[in-house]
Amino acid sequence: MFCRNCGASIAEGSSICRFCGCKQENVILTQNNDTEKLNYNTLCIVGLIISTLGIFGIVGLIISIIGLRDCKKKNQKGKIIAIVGIVRSFFSTFFEAILIVNILYGIFNVI
Ligand SMILES: [Zn+2]
Repeated sequence: MFCRNCGASIAEGSSICRFCGCKQENVILTQNNDTEKLNYNTLCIVGLIISTLGIFGIVGLIISIIGLRDCKKKNQKGKIIAIVGIVRSFFSTFFEAILIVNILYGIFNVI
């Protein structure tokens, strides 16, 4: 690494530059802040929105599961969102299945 004050080459992780005495902590801190500033996983949010709509429950379920795996892989935020999306999608898929069965049953009854 290089000193942020004088630009001299110093040992990796040094807290003080051995040439000018300038503190290097701020550099490390800002780097940590950058890595901690994680973005939310888009798929997790999309999955939750679809599951909240109450339609295409199976699509919301699949997107939420993909989103959960994706945000674990990329170390992004949104795991809780994805889990909520999975639970919601699971229930809406369940009720959709009942609805479809009822509709089919109705059609076949008419015929
Ligand atoms: Zn220096």
